[in-house]
Parts: sequence; structure tokens; C-alpha cells
Amino acid sequence: MKTDVAIVGGGAIGASVAYFLKLASPSLGVVVVERDPAYSLASTPRASGGVRRLFSLPENIELSKFSIPFFESFPQVMAVNGTPAEIGFKKGGYLFIVPPSSREMLKANYDTEVSLGCNVTWLEPEAIKAKFPSMFVGDLGAAVHSPDDGWLDPHSVLMGFRKKAQSLGAEFVADEVTGMDRQGARVVAAKLKSGATLGAECFVNAAGAWAQDICAMLGFRSPITPLRRFEHYFECEDPIEPLPYLKDPERLAFRPEGKGYSGGVPTLAEPRGYNFETDHSYFENVVWPALAHRFPQFERTKCRNTLPGLYDQNDLDGNVIIGPGADGLGNFHMLAGFSGHGLMHAPGCGRAMAELILKGRYETIDLARFGWQRVINNAPLPERGII
Ligand SMILES: Cc1cc2nc3c(=O)[nH]c(=O)nc-3n(C[C@H](O)[C@H](O)[C@H](O)COP(=O)(O)OP(=O)(O)OC[C@H]3O[C@@H](n4cnc5c(N)ncnc54)[C@H](O)[C@@H]3O)c2cc1C
Repeated sequence: MKTDVAIVGGGAIGASVAYFLKLASPSLGVVVVERDPAYSLASTPRASGGVRRLFSLPENIELSKFSIPFFESFPQVMAVNGTPAEIGFKKGGYLFIVPPSSREMLKANYDTEVSLGCNVTWLEPEAIKAKFPSMFVGDLGAAVHSPDDGWLDPHSVLMGFRKKAQSLGAEFVADEVTGMDRQGARVVAAKLKSGATLGAECFVNAAGAWAQDICAMLGFRSPITPLRRFEHYFECEDPIEPLPYLKDPERLAFRPEGKGYSGGVPTLAEPRGYNFETDHSYFENVVWPALAHRFPQFERTKCRNTLPGLYDQNDLDGNVIIGPGADGLGNFHMLAGFSGHGLMHAPGCGRAMAELILKGRYETIDLARFGWQRVINNAPLPERGII
């Protein structure tokens, strides 16, 4: 089997790349190799669905500024045969809250967001209290509210990209990449579990939390590791006013969902690995105290469901690695290491990857600083503050 572009992994990222490639170049051969079309362990369907412009790095803000309006028009843009691709986008807003010690950091990020044209509001503790009367603000220094952000259904986003890419001629092959053939500075083929070989001009590593395995097949290490985190669904017996997606520096992150809330407290202390065990005490020991501290109503909360999922955690700096150059390979592109931001940046990064492959350069958002070179230089480019 031979094609122009072979994409390893058909989650939100691989499917988005396939879509943007076929959109820009209809005659291009695009094959996505996805070993599990049910996506039973993939990260995308397990994501919380938050989409926000609140970042410190201009690249991440620009990716969100493209991706979030894209999600708003997703049902129409991704419609196939007249059937809209609904993704349940809820413009419920985002709220970052910080203690007094982090005020300056939040202000610097806020200034960057404003300078890039984001609709964001600075809130002093009294203003936070006036807007969200149930919240304990006694230990807070400030907040930033981003009313145009929100959340959506991750599985629907994945299916929307996948179906649209297929309708444009991208081929999704249900198989597993088990080896990669390289000749010098080029990858020439992917070996598949079925015994088939897939040759291509260009390869994209969109294997998410499994990206390191694809790198290992080529004989090099990447800083991307699987990091387990839990998404909990919990309900509260006492009513709280409508809340946005709320995040604090202790990594508490949650949003309204149906009759209750969805969220959790990811931790970098988690040992890396493909661990899908559920720790049922995590909510009670870690999440619940953080919730009850912030809102007295959560003293009487019930965790109804806990779902483990994997971050494709970039242990260098928590940001995506995009583009060629890993281990000197010119036609092998990384697109992983999102560390919890991959769903919201799937449109922007899919488009960026299509630009790189088709034009050899970024045409819209310059993501050069997110390239492999920083791994070689051991020069982390982290987000400041809440991540
Ligand atoms: C609990 C949780 C909450 C999250 N919340 C958010 C959020 O609010 N907002 C946000 O933007 N992001 C969030 N994320 C992160 C987001 O889910 C990921 O960054 C994003 O889904 C990554 O997409 P992907 O396509 O790279 O990975 P995946 O969806 O995991 O897709 C990778 C695919 O590659 C396939 N694959 C792997 N190896 C091979 C192989 N050898 N051969 C063939 N196929 C292979 C896998 O089967 C998989 O389907 C969250 C993640 C988790 C776990």
C-alpha cells in the first residue's frame, strides 16, 4: 500500500490533520491508521471538553482564537450530506482564579490575552464575589473571566472530523502500526499488524499518549509520556448559581454537566504509564476537599462516576511538539505532547500541520517555537501559571 501522507493515530488530532489536508489538497492521498475505531482507550472521548483562550504563550492563545470560533461553526462546516455535525458547544465561559501571590502572573497573562484581542475581564475579589456569590473568595487575589470560551462534546468533535475527512476522500485503516522503516533521514514505510506495509512520502505521529512508542520504533526517545488523570462526574445537593469552567493554580478544574458537574484535579506526581485503573478514593481525598473549600455547597456532593484517561504529557514543558526534525528525520512530523490541551487545539494544529506538509512552512499561526528543536536544545517553553 502506498500513499502521500500516512497519519498514525485517528483521534481528534489525526482526524483533524486528515481533514485539513484533504480540504487544501483534494487529490492528495491521505491514510489514517487507527488501531481501534471504537476509540475505547483513546484520550479524545475521555476529555473534559474545555476550550479556552486563557493561556500565557501567544501561540496557544492564537491556536484557541482560531479553534474556538471554528468549533462554533463546526455543525455547519463539518456537515456531511446535509447532516449537521453537532458538538454541543456551550459558551459558558472560563474563569481562572488565583491567590494574591499569583496576581502578577495572572495580570501578565491577561495583558497578553488583551493585546491579542481576546474578550477577557479582570476581576478583583469583590467582583468575583458579586458575579459568583457562592464562591469563597477570602484567599483569592484576582480572577480572569473569559465569557466567550466554554466546553463541548469531545467524542462528537472526533466523529465530526473523521466523517468529514472521509467524505473528502481520506482513508481510515483499522490496523496497528507495529514498526517503522527508515532509510537515513527519511521514514519510508509503516509496518502494520495485519502484515501489510504502508509506504508514504510523509508521516505524522498523531498517536497521542502512545506517541513515544512510535518514536521508539524509529529508534529515538521523545519527552512525551502517558499521564493518567481522572474525570469525575459529581452532583451537588445544594444549588449553586450557573458556573463557568473554573480553574485554579492547584489544578482543580470543573464545569457544569447536566444535573451536576464534570472535572477533576490532574497531578504531575502521577507515575507515567498506560494505567487505566480507577482509584475510587482520589475524589474523596483530593477533589472533594478542593471543591468544598471553594463552594460550601460541595460539602454535600456525591461522585457518581470516575473515568481514567491519559494525557499525552510533554515532560519537557507541557506543550505540543509539532513538525519535523526529530532524530534528524525530515519527513516524519510529530504532533503530540498536548498535555491536556489537544482537543481545544485540534483545529488549529490540524491546519498548521497541513500547511507544513503542503507548503513547507506555517502560513497562518507561526508555531516554530513548538518544534523539535527545543527538545534538542533542552530549552523548555512552558505556560506560566495555570496550565
Ligand atoms: C481526563 C482528560 C481530560 C481532558 N480534558 C481536556 C480538555 O478539557 N480540553 C482539551 O483540549 N483537552 C483535554 N484533554 C486532552 C485531550 O483529550 C488530548 O490532548 C487529545 O484528545 C489528544 O488527541 P489525540 O488524537 O492526539 O489522542 P487520542 O484521542 O488518544 O488518539 C490517538 C489515537 O492513536 C491511536 N494509536 C496509538 N498507537 C497506535 C498505533 N501504534 N497504531 C495505530 N493507532 C495507534 C490510538 O488508538 C488513539 O485512538 C483531556 C484528556 C484527559 C485524559
